[in-house]
Amino acid sequence: NFKKSLGQNFLTDTNILRKIVAAAEVTTADDVIEIGPGIGALTEQLAKKAHRVLALELDERLIPVLAETLAPYPNVQVIRQDVLKANLKKLLTSYFDGQHPVKIVANLPYYITSPIILYLLETGIDFKAIVVMMQKEVAERLGAHPGTKSYGSLTVRVQYQMDVKVPFVVPKTVFVPQPKIDSAIVALTPKVQPWTVLPQNEQLFFKIVRGCFQHRRKNIWNNLQSLLGKKQVNKEKLQQLLSDTGIAPQERAEKLTIPEFIQLTNKMIDYKIIEK
Ligand code: SAM
Repeated sequence: NFKKSLGQNFLTDTNILRKIVAAAEVTTADDVIEIGPGIGALTEQLAKKAHRVLALELDERLIPVLAETLAPYPNVQVIRQDVLKANLKKLLTSYFDGQHPVKIVANLPYYITSPIILYLLETGIDFKAIVVMMQKEVAERLGAHPGTKSYGSLTVRVQYQMDVKVPFVVPKTVFVPQPKIDSAIVALTPKVQPWTVLPQNEQLFFKIVRGCFQHRRKNIWNNLQSLLGKKQVNKEKLQQLLSDTGIAPQERAEKLTIPEFIQLTNKMIDYKIIEK
């Protein structure tokens, strides 16, 4: 009776559940938000370690099951909620005391992994850590280095704000029902070392990064031209700007580091080649 459409692959291996909680270093000092508690196996492990746990589950059929499983844990609250529609700031102030750092720990619904990660980063909440299970391929994208196949706009978006670790891979065999692909745990923590130069406009920075990766086979020159609108673009200015930043027009976006993307953005603003 699983809902495939909701990404319901439940974890059964207690050892793995404990490893997730350990990777998140959950202690009684922490409040935890869990996304998609399912039947509550991870929730139970979290309840044993955390100060409080707030679990957001979309599937209403699971709510009574969760109430029963989690009855012994007074520090757990389950609410029926679509995470992508949640006002997390408001939930935090209603359910937590504000005295404990907040961590996100979850085995994510895989059909919306990237939207959830982006949603969490855009809340502006200073999560102490986001430790979540996801499909291995997406984990590799989040942790990727420049010059590799997995490095893309999602990598840059996430690594701009967070340090990324992939503590361990989880075989598909520990889930019920078994998914087609392996999974991995990803641990995101706020960047320790801030960038020396920041983009003058973050939204524009993200837009330019997405534009540079729009057509993966095309080089920076062509992607920037599509982004800016071929006819409008002043070719000399664009050439000058790239040479100023030391980026070869034939280079592919996957070669550029985050500081290079930041520099590119700021130069585009300085040259008034894009509206701030
Ligand atoms: N935590 C459980 C475990 O580890 O066994 C279940 C994880 S399962 C991969 C994902 C869970 O997320 C399911 O219970 C599913 O119903 C729930 N879910 C799916 N979409 C959701 C959404 N938009 N908001 C909140 N929960 C969602």
